[in-house]
Amino acid sequence: MTQTHKVLPPNSVIGIVGGGQLGRMSAIAAAKLGYRAHILTQGTQDPAVQVAHAVTIGAYDDTRALEAFACAVDVVTFEFENISANALDQLASYCPVRPSGRILRISQDRLAEKTFLTEAGVPVAPWHAVTDKDSLYAAAEKLGLPLILKTTRNGYDGKGQRRVYDISDLENAFTELAPHPLVAEAMVDFACELSVMVARGVDGTIRCFDAVQNRHWHGILDLTLAPAPVMDDIAATARTLAAKVARQLGLKGIMGVEMFLDRDGRIMVNEIAPRPHNSGHWTMNACPQDQFDMHIRAVAGLPLPDAIRHSDAVMKNLVGPEDMALWPEILATPAHIPHLYGKAEAREGRKMGHVNILFPIGGLPGEHGIQAALGPLATKTAAPYALADAMP
Ligand code: AMP
Repeated sequence: MTQTHKVLPPNSVIGIVGGGQLGRMSAIAAAKLGYRAHILTQGTQDPAVQVAHAVTIGAYDDTRALEAFACAVDVVTFEFENISANALDQLASYCPVRPSGRILRISQDRLAEKTFLTEAGVPVAPWHAVTDKDSLYAAAEKLGLPLILKTTRNGYDGKGQRRVYDISDLENAFTELAPHPLVAEAMVDFACELSVMVARGVDGTIRCFDAVQNRHWHGILDLTLAPAPVMDDIAATARTLAAKVARQLGLKGIMGVEMFLDRDGRIMVNEIAPRPHNSGHWTMNACPQDQFDMHIRAVAGLPLPDAIRHSDAVMKNLVGPEDMALWPEILATPAHIPHLYGKAEAREGRKMGHVNILFPIGGLPGEHGIQAALGPLATKTAAPYALADAMP
């Protein structure tokens, strides 16, 4: 077959916008494939900077920094979504940008995202655009209460959203959340949250890692179980939906697709993140080629390997000073495979690293076994999970 796109040869430079842990792990994956990572960021000590071949220090909207960065790299990708899509468009005039600015525009804006998913025939929670008080009350009428109001931009880890249980609270929530417009969503009484990492190559090949279950603690991802302990047909539907989203977006790169599984076994897509994703960190030890390898291959135009999982896994995030205080015990626990991001200060709520724990295929234990495997990390997570035991 003739090659219709350019494959980046070894020693090419992959430009990564953003200096966080996702950039760090992408840069390490790039190095394994013989590439060099060049980071665009503002922090000289950022996690990705510590492992990079080269760095451009500058603001993401500084056109001169963007130009200097673009001239030094062969392809551009991004590890976070707060760069402006216009900046990506500027970069695209120098070299390929994967995923594209168009996909970033969709993922940055909940209204654009819901509209895209709905038009693509992908199930989402019932929603309504809220631009003013009339549309606010129309949303309550259409969706019923309780509902969730969300800002359209810059919402992450549960920020920028407000639950409304009583009609008298509707206008308060509307006023509190800014800027407008907002999106109103029906509150899904979900059984659990799932996600799928899906990669799409430059040649259109799609690879989906197995669907996983995600559990949050104070709005931040705490634990991922791989595979998700759900029926096979549900896991298959989750992967099919993720592949559909990637195909319809024309994705080049990797993307996390977050979903709800409701108590009737229906899946709804909540959010897409066109980059490596925290809920894919389990792949680093449970798969021969992980989400970062897959991402770099897709961005570089290389063929994509199968998304094989050789083990079951639990991924536990290390968040803030509390989890970092357990670092010596984690190191002393043979089953814990640690990953640290090189952040100087363990601030409250800050993702410092993660631990993967592997089990033989089919050997992912139930709740008590998971807690036992977590060892020193178990106590904090045990209590809320008693609630989560009510799984289908
Ligand atoms: P998001 O910012 O959309 O990722 O939402 C953060 C978290 O809020 C999700 O992981 C869910 O736990 C919860 N959530 C968001 N939207 C809904 C919804 N429509 N129904 C129930 N829970 C939700």
